[in-house]
Amino acid sequence: MAAHEIAHWINGEADAGSGAGRQAVYNPATGEQTGSLALAEPADADRAVAAARRTFDTWSTTPLSKRISVLFSFREKVKAHTDELARIITAEHGKTLPDAAGEVARGLEVIEYACALPETLKGDYSEQVSSGIDVFSFRQPLGVVAAITPFNFPVMVPLWMSPIAIATGNAVVLKPSERDPSASLLLAKLWQEAGLPDAVFNVVNGGRDVVERLLEHDDVDAVSFVGSTPVARSIYEKASSRGKRVQALGGAKNHAVVLPDSDLDLAADHLAAAAFGSAGERCMAVSVAVAVGDVGDELVEKLKERAADVVVGDGAEEGTGMGPLITPEAKERVESIVAGAEAEGAVLAVDGRGLVVEGREGGFFTGPSVLDHVSTEAEAYKQEIFGPVLAVVRVKDLDEAIEVINNNPYGNGTAIFTGSGAAAREFQRRVTVGMIGVNVPIPVPAAQHSFGGWKDSLFGEHHIYGPDGVAFYTRGKVVTQRWPKENDPVEASLNFPTN
Ligand code: NAD
Repeated sequence: MAAHEIAHWINGEADAGSGAGRQAVYNPATGEQTGSLALAEPADADRAVAAARRTFDTWSTTPLSKRISVLFSFREKVKAHTDELARIITAEHGKTLPDAAGEVARGLEVIEYACALPETLKGDYSEQVSSGIDVFSFRQPLGVVAAITPFNFPVMVPLWMSPIAIATGNAVVLKPSERDPSASLLLAKLWQEAGLPDAVFNVVNGGRDVVERLLEHDDVDAVSFVGSTPVARSIYEKASSRGKRVQALGGAKNHAVVLPDSDLDLAADHLAAAAFGSAGERCMAVSVAVAVGDVGDELVEKLKERAADVVVGDGAEEGTGMGPLITPEAKERVESIVAGAEAEGAVLAVDGRGLVVEGREGGFFTGPSVLDHVSTEAEAYKQEIFGPVLAVVRVKDLDEAIEVINNNPYGNGTAIFTGSGAAAREFQRRVTVGMIGVNVPIPVPAAQHSFGGWKDSLFGEHHIYGPDGVAFYTRGKVVTQRWPKENDPVEASLNFPTN
């Protein structure tokens, strides 16, 4: 099959870009090249930013009701194209079709939240705070927002950002992952069909060079980034030093604590699903099970059974539970960490290396792995593996479990499996992690809350989407006003008023 050409989307149309650079896009289930991506030159990023800047003046002053009607229409378009978006995601990312459709559903929830923004944006008013004086506050958009997104959620993460940025009156330049860029271009078309004026939503493709250009551009006012921790940290430092507002969400190492009073079958079911779903390539994947007291042996036996039941294959085929990894390099990296774990004292309870899927021999597959008795000093514990590998760490009690979690540099998500409300409460109060699940393994907050981790999982003050998203994409103004009556002059004083 010939590789299709993947362009940019600038000022309301597909744009081939000015450079000759191209990068191959693959179907990870077959290993075949399916796309040829145009890599943007700095001049292409400049054109996208300039178009966004021009349109900002009209879009930001378009009545809120008109802006929101575009959001309602976009919601219908995305919903109607769920299957097509899911097919594109699966073809370039590898996750299963139902999982891809689930990612679209999570994105839809953020669009729905943005549809209700007239309520959130309505501002505050204080009457008669002093004699004849009223105070009111409201929020206004920032300008041009650069949105830089990772490969693992090619629809959901752009939808964490763009609906709220656009509904609040900003223009967006999206730089999606170069590994699975095609879904972003369909989103651009759907925005246009929904009635969004040209250049409010643009897509420029490429890697580090184009990101650097966006970070240094004077007309980019804010940067929303989601990706790995080293890149998140560097983007935060560079963009904030240039005076831009930045939220940079990074990587994760999510622990799930299993207490002896938990329902062990329920815990094992959910741990396996959260560790092996999407081949472990989720920032909220559970990658460490913390077995408390004497639950370790029984838990590991149950995890072995669950891992054996996972059907690994092409995500586009019905019945597949887990697809391939994103690249051959990712597969090699994951398998080398599993190989090194034994030398560091872990027991390979399930070894997923070397798995070959019949009929898909060129795919980037690895099977689920379970590593038991993992030390917190081991590489398999310290690294974000981003593959279907569950490390089991054994501890004596809840205090030690909390200590392990709090000593970890990441703080994205965590979970506890228990039958005790008191233990759950203790846990949720003491862990230094942003999102916590109680008998829920992947506690991604609903769209009316905000999503964000602590420590090395997030750089910047704002979490993403929900109320923090609105705060991030807007800035506040407070007006203090007096309208003196005729013949009733207000005395001026050199002193601050005392009432
Ligand atoms: P990545 O950091 O390699 O890339 C993310 C984006 O940054 C891509 O668009 C990429 O082109 C760009 N980029 C890569 N290197 C860059 C550099 N040196 N300078 C500037 N830009 C650069 O991440 P990825 O591999 O695409 O995604 C997986 C990572 O994202 C994991 O670490 C995962 O935990 C994390 N992630 C975090 C969240 C969260 O909400 N915290 C959500 C999804 C993914």
